[in-house]
Amino acid sequence: MPFNLPDLPYPAEALEPYISADTLGYHHGKHHAAYVDKLNGLLAGSHLADRTLEEVIIEVKDDPKRAAIFNNAAQAWNHAFYWKCMTPKGGGRPTGEIGKRIDAEFRGFENFRSQFAAAASGQFGSGWAWLVLDHGQLRITATSNALTPVAQGHHALLTCDVWEHAYYLDYQNRRVDYVEVFLENLVNWRFVEEQLKAAESRATAA
Ligand code: FE
Repeated sequence: MPFNLPDLPYPAEALEPYISADTLGYHHGKHHAAYVDKLNGLLAGSHLADRTLEEVIIEVKDDPKRAAIFNNAAQAWNHAFYWKCMTPKGGGRPTGEIGKRIDAEFRGFENFRSQFAAAASGQFGSGWAWLVLDHGQLRITATSNALTPVAQGHHALLTCDVWEHAYYLDYQNRRVDYVEVFLENLVNWRFVEEQLKAAESRATAA
């Protein structure tokens, strides 16, 4: 099988009490696994089976006939990224370069926080909230269903999955509460900092 389900970067119970082991177990072991399995089925025998997920996403993104490949590849990528955006004892105010950039570009962390929460809570139906680097600027975006910054030419720095499967067992319909907990207790700012540095070095090399 060309694409594998990556392991969670922590045990399934590591994010309790904020995200339960049940939620993470289903989300990773059923939902994420299904996207990877479907993608492998769709790409069996295709030249795309030898590519990276990013390459597959970019190759098929504008082809409506290959929407199923796009959706499953994008969801496989988005979920692998989302797991790394969380950590036990995470959240709160970032330090380092990302902390400085957020302060400068959003006029303070509290503004960033409320804008990110609004994007996550306001996304109609299933989707994702993102902090991205877009032409060298930090920007908050929301995407619908599987749509991913990889297809939009943005460098993803942080994401919050706002599909109901991400929070329904723990928060039922209270997406706002899940997003608050994500920001307050779960964000892996060290990972976000690494993504910022990687995005800046790719931009310098390009
Ligand atoms: Fe999800």
